[in-house]
Amino acid sequence: MPTKVLDPNNLGMDEDWEGNNAAFRCPHCSKVYIVSGSGVHHGVRKCPNCEKSTARCDIKGKKSGGSASLEW
Ligand SMILES: [Zn+2]
Repeated sequence: MPTKVLDPNNLGMDEDWEGNNAAFRCPHCSKVYIVSGSGVHHGVRKCPNCEKSTARCDIKGKKSGGSASLEW
């Protein structure tokens, strides 16, 4: 499956990342959705519309060596 790893210094127009929350646009259905590294999503969330993509964001956060990625 293709995976996009967010670059914290070069976010695209359809991506965002602050702390341990990241936002993506689903490549399948274009739904924009967020994923939280905290207890809300525990760092993993499937697209709430089509469930064909999976977003991840770890608890460490953007400025603390964390990671955020999208797989679809
Ligand atoms: Zn989708």
